[in-house]
Amino acid sequence: MTPMATPLLESAADVSERALIDEVFVGEVFDEVFVTAWADEATMAGAAAGVEAALAADLALLESLERTIRWAQAEQYRVIEAARVRHAQIEGVTEVSSPAQREFATRSFVAEIATTLVVPEAAAGRFVADAGRLTGARAATLEALAAGAVSVGHVRSMLEITQTMPADAAGDLERLALADAAMRTSAAFRGRVHRLRERLHPASLSERRARAAEDRRVALDSAPDGMAWLSLFLQAERAVAIVERLDALAAASDPDRPDCRTRAQRAADVAGDLLLAGTLDAADHHLAAATGRVAAQIVVTVPVLSLLGVTDEPAELDGYGPIDAETARRLAAHAPSVQRLLVHPETGAALSYSRTRYRVAADLAGYLRVRDGRCRFPGCARRARHADLDHIVAWAQGGSTSAENLAHLCRAHHRLKHESGWRMAHEPDGVIRWTSPVGHVLRTLPERPFLPVPGPTGSRPPSTPPNPQAPTFLRPDADPDPPWLHAASAAA
Ligand SMILES: [Zn+2]
Repeated sequence: MTPMATPLLESAADVSERALIDEVFVGEVFDEVFVTAWADEATMAGAAAGVEAALAADLALLESLERTIRWAQAEQYRVIEAARVRHAQIEGVTEVSSPAQREFATRSFVAEIATTLVVPEAAAGRFVADAGRLTGARAATLEALAAGAVSVGHVRSMLEITQTMPADAAGDLERLALADAAMRTSAAFRGRVHRLRERLHPASLSERRARAAEDRRVALDSAPDGMAWLSLFLQAERAVAIVERLDALAAASDPDRPDCRTRAQRAADVAGDLLLAGTLDAADHHLAAATGRVAAQIVVTVPVLSLLGVTDEPAELDGYGPIDAETARRLAAHAPSVQRLLVHPETGAALSYSRTRYRVAADLAGYLRVRDGRCRFPGCARRARHADLDHIVAWAQGGSTSAENLAHLCRAHHRLKHESGWRMAHEPDGVIRWTSPVGHVLRTLPERPFLPVPGPTGSRPPSTPPNPQAPTFLRPDADPDPPWLHAASAAA
């Protein structure tokens, strides 16, 4: 019983294998992902001395401990399920037991686990239910946890998002999501599973949305120390717009009125005042004038054929994920606060600028925001909208203001790049290669690749960045009929 040794950090051989997977999945893996690899051994050997070697050993130990923890967590699920079966036997559950008898036996077992592990019964109940699914329909996910390829965070997203899906579709989703799960942080994996669900769920997104919207509500949950959570369960585009508007109001500050509150505190105060009175409290009166002006800014990326009503491919609501085509069309047509990001198959956008101008032109910035999606540091989830555009090769050193030399970095990672040993370099297709101070190499892929319209022969996209002459097309993540899906089904 030893942990299976799937390294969290991939070898160079794994990386070339990854390139093969990229070919098969074409745009699919161009999500928030990162590929890890050790720098070539010669470089390592050259640099491996003293402190550096000790640091590398620390990191290797850390990786090995994480793998062991993940294996142990998988074992916990297996043991819980085995114990549940034995416990049911002791409770006298047989094949002919009624649903009520089984339910009672399960509750009794949950209490057993709660007292054994000293956790709340709700947590124990979730543990037992998860163990049942992970040793049943979601066994592949448990296997990935045991092998160290995914964390418990990945596992929870998989269980939650496949919960109400029909069995066949959930199985397809699991297979596709696990194929490259090791390259994604749990947050990026969640986004990926969410998109796959929208693509694979047999009921249309608009049908499910209509059904789910009937459950919209306000929820109040108590919290310690005289606090409480007030939550709204409502349509995604409204929720995102509310958060954006509160953020914009909280950001509007009056230089004459020093305010020691954090931005998050101001946003919460503003929300409370607006809901209670429809106006802002006296302390925020300087924001009151802004209340009427600040309209929520939400960004929707709509596949052009969807917008034209030719297809019903889901659109993408920035900060949330996929929304149904009908809602996207409505937003794009009516709401003045929606920014449409359309890339027409024929016109394309101007993507490259000469280095005579330093400021990034608006259409290039818009293109890069869609391409990057998020901060391009490995694993960072900060949205590109809230990040800086950084010149990979500094403008002063001859770097151009072009798509190939620009990338989004959040303020923290922008500073890290300039003030530490982390180095970044551009590779074809919008890939960015990072080299850590220890020599660890990681790659981040663009959230959305810009690919030429595939020809009838299924020609592969060129490995060069798009240019303004070639027609470009924003490949929607939710291609209704991707060729690799047929390949996957046929292989199953
Ligand atoms: Zn970042």
